[in-house]
Amino acid sequence: MSTNTQTNRIHLVKMITDDGGEKYENPTWHFVQHIGDSPRTLCGGEVFGEGEGRAEYEEKWVDRGGINCKQCLQIIKRIKAIRL
Ligand SMILES: [Zn+2]
Repeated sequence: MSTNTQTNRIHLVKMITDDGGEKYENPTWHFVQHIGDSPRTLCGGEVFGEGEGRAEYEEKWVDRGGINCKQCLQIIKRIKAIRL
């Protein structure tokens, strides 16, 4: 498990470059999902973190809001619309 996991807060990541060191044009904040040991972006499943290639990124933990990746927001809205 990641040592900087903060429970009950939303984990966000902004990918600055991809694995190949290529810069993203308009970096946005993605929702991070934790699957196994590897955190990854919700929309693209892009894995990041120590030992996961050389992508540059920023992370933050928030109580709410902050996501401005359109794909992530769309996925979250669709999930919230599911009636259980
Ligand atoms: Zn995203």
